[in-house]
Amino acid sequence: MSTPPGFARYADRLWAEALPLDELAERFGTPCYVYSRAAIEERWALYRSALGVAGDVCYAVKANGNLALLQLLARHGAGFDIVSGGELERVLHAGGDAARVVFSGVGKGTDEIRRALQAGIRCFNVESAAELERIASVAATENTPAPVALRVNPDVNPETHPYIATGLAQSKFGIALEEAEALYLQAANDPRLEVRGIACHIGSQLLSVAPLTEAAERLAALARRLQEQGISLDHIDAGGGLGVHYIDEQPPTPAEHIEAISAPLRDLGVSVLVEPGRAIVAEAGILLTRIEYLKHNGGKEFAIVDAGMNDYLRPALYDAAHTLEAVTPSEAELRPVDVVGPVCESADTFARDCTLPAAAGGLLAIRSAGAYGAVMASQYNARPRPPEVLVDGTQAHLIRRRETIDELMSGESLLPEG
Ligand SMILES: *Cc1c(COP(=O)(O)O)cnc(C)c1O
Repeated sequence: MSTPPGFARYADRLWAEALPLDELAERFGTPCYVYSRAAIEERWALYRSALGVAGDVCYAVKANGNLALLQLLARHGAGFDIVSGGELERVLHAGGDAARVVFSGVGKGTDEIRRALQAGIRCFNVESAAELERIASVAATENTPAPVALRVNPDVNPETHPYIATGLAQSKFGIALEEAEALYLQAANDPRLEVRGIACHIGSQLLSVAPLTEAAERLAALARRLQEQGISLDHIDAGGGLGVHYIDEQPPTPAEHIEAISAPLRDLGVSVLVEPGRAIVAEAGILLTRIEYLKHNGGKEFAIVDAGMNDYLRPALYDAAHTLEAVTPSEAELRPVDVVGPVCESADTFARDCTLPAAAGGLLAIRSAGAYGAVMASQYNARPRPPEVLVDGTQAHLIRRRETIDELMSGESLLPEG
């Protein structure tokens, strides 16, 4: 049998590359995240080849910061988009190149700025005048000019979930376009700073490229005004945000994403950066979970699974819908069930009225769980976080083991006697 990329049905089962998922469940237990190396590499290669040599693909670490995934991408020459000092340490530990790191986020701390400056990152994507001043003062104490881009807010509606829309005027992200120009002039005249580029990121799970093009056009207009005033720019960072397939979405391809943002930027003589996260890893991962119990209540049927909202938060946080699939054949009849977790919250629901062959002991795959999954896992309800497994052909690598109950309590202390 040839090795299919990612996850596919073959001989009545769902496989991760050349391994049946039921075998992985036996070996690693459930719940468990499973990723496909080939699927990640395929998505990476699509972005890499679409962007061409003049640009850099900076993978957004917050989508999935597992060290082995970062290492895999670093080996392919990836840049990285980070949002904290912790993510910087992960990238460096995984062998990533600091000179290809851009640092985003609205609340960078002084220590995080200092460490990033010392590590020699490519650029700080600055989110406010106050942050620009803080970066400049850290740069002065470190005696190293800080490379900066302003993250501007192009005020376009990305038509996505309000929690992941970031480019509207009334959002905490970015600097209004009208204010950016004056701040650029100030930064260009500040010896503690080196202006490198312009950055933006308008939102996530975008299913149309039109807002990305509109944002790029506004960035291009700003870039021209800055260039006319003698401010030279090394790059324009168009952010991430490309959507993926969860249920029935038809997202644009990485090539369409790159074309949509590159066209308006073509004649500026700058290199183009993108920061995809979800589009690289989401479809390359699943969450494997087992049905513990079936339960009838109020005329509804529930399948209670061993994964909870602590393991995978997106359905509870964003009301996100996912495709759920039975891993192995089942005698059970197909019927609509609500698939819920064991956590004591009604939001702990993975799917409503999902038609499945529901039987206790059955294995389910929650598809497209590779992004914003393991990274958002918590220990709520004192539940150890699940393991992560990377499948590479016929090999399965445990890239994060299941947490233990002792680890759950390891940082805590009891009070002294009395
Ligand atoms: C979250 C984020 C990204 C990645 O977004 P995706 O939708 O996962 O591609 C890129 N850039 C910034 C600044 C972000 O905050």
